[in-house]
Amino acid sequence: MTDIIIIGGGVIGLMTARELIRSGARVLILERQMIGRESSWAGGGILSPLYPWRAVEPILQLWLPSHAEYPKLAETLHRRTGIDPEWRKSGLLIADCENVHLAETWCESYGIAYERPDLARFRELEPAVQFMPSSPIFLPDIAQVRNPRLLRALQSELLADGVQISEHRTVTEIAVDRSKITHINAGNETYSADQYVITAGAWSGTMSDRFFFVPHLDVEPVKGQMIVFSAEPELLRHMVLSRDHYLIPRKDGKILAGSTLEHSGFDKSTTESARDELAEFAYTVLPALRACSIEKHWAGLRPGSPRGIPYIGRHPEIQNLHFNCGHFRNGFAMAPASARLLADLLFARTSELSPEPYSLTAEH
Ligand SMILES: Cc1cc2nc3c(=O)[nH]c(=O)nc-3n(C[C@H](O)[C@H](O)[C@H](O)COP(=O)(O)OP(=O)(O)OC[C@H]3O[C@@H](n4cnc5c(N)ncnc54)[C@H](O)[C@@H]3O)c2cc1C
Repeated sequence: MTDIIIIGGGVIGLMTARELIRSGARVLILERQMIGRESSWAGGGILSPLYPWRAVEPILQLWLPSHAEYPKLAETLHRRTGIDPEWRKSGLLIADCENVHLAETWCESYGIAYERPDLARFRELEPAVQFMPSSPIFLPDIAQVRNPRLLRALQSELLADGVQISEHRTVTEIAVDRSKITHINAGNETYSADQYVITAGAWSGTMSDRFFFVPHLDVEPVKGQMIVFSAEPELLRHMVLSRDHYLIPRKDGKILAGSTLEHSGFDKSTTESARDELAEFAYTVLPALRACSIEKHWAGLRPGSPRGIPYIGRHPEIQNLHFNCGHFRNGFAMAPASARLLADLLFARTSELSPEPYSLTAEH
């Protein structure tokens, strides 16, 4: 017996399942391929919007509680599964803060620690970074996770807690009768439950258009390419952001450089021009990387929504259908609070967050 079927096993589907089982629900996740191999695998794992003062309020309202929750979440997952998600408060050094006054005011009003390093302090923070920053600001409390590790830990914990996970199950049919989903088809199987949640990332918009027609959910794939260098630990100490590109140092020394923003449908191929662009950015910031090899180059499809505000809520006409999708560039940064809000709405509990900005009929 299944109470709730979740369609899509990325970070949002997994975190949603984690919240739903806390209330005793029996949950099944149906995933088209393998768990956590799409956008969630491809991402950088920075647990904050890139220039957080640019983010609209509904994003901040999901980010702030998630930011507070991550240390305990990572510790619990590590303890329970033996898989370390490598949550690390490596700090975000923003080299080109275009409006320092705005950034400082924002940090103060949201209680986010910051420092305005002069050039000597900037060099002290990052001795190997060579380029000249313009108005840098340092946010020491911003953390990162290693996406594949967090996903594996979540999957392992969910399995231990009795969640059923079926991989290689593409949902191809959703049957609706009198404003209720009666069953769905995936692979050669038919599944039914009391409630259904769609967490299909970049595919959520087309899925909604195909099966439910209205309302149209403005969720489009936005390709992001990344490269990773093999380097020694501590070559780079903090995450460094400049001109919307960033470097992320992992615990074992690997350094990620990202990312592109491309509107090219569901095409996930990588391009030489993007690789060159990311490598050039990385060499400008950290010339020592010229001596390091590029280990991998990949692309993922972000679930893009117009302003990055996710759709979290019940379908206006189909009583047993909820969505949690469209997290665009901040799916990891917002996942815990998004999952909690979804669970509150599904179980008709009072939520700490106002659900209106995320509703399926609100402007996103
Ligand atoms: C290059 C890049 C860098 C990023 N960096 C960051 C960052 O630093 N910080 C941050 O917070 N976010 C970042 N993101 C964004 C983040 O990765 C996404 O917001 C997040 O992963 C979205 O999670 P999701 O679960 O909604 O989507 P996904 O991870 O894409 O999961 C959706 C799942 O649904 C499945 N699915 C689709 N259709 C069906 C179907 N018909 N039946 C069954 N299953 C189906 C898919 O196979 C997929 O596994 C980045 C993304 C990219 C691409």
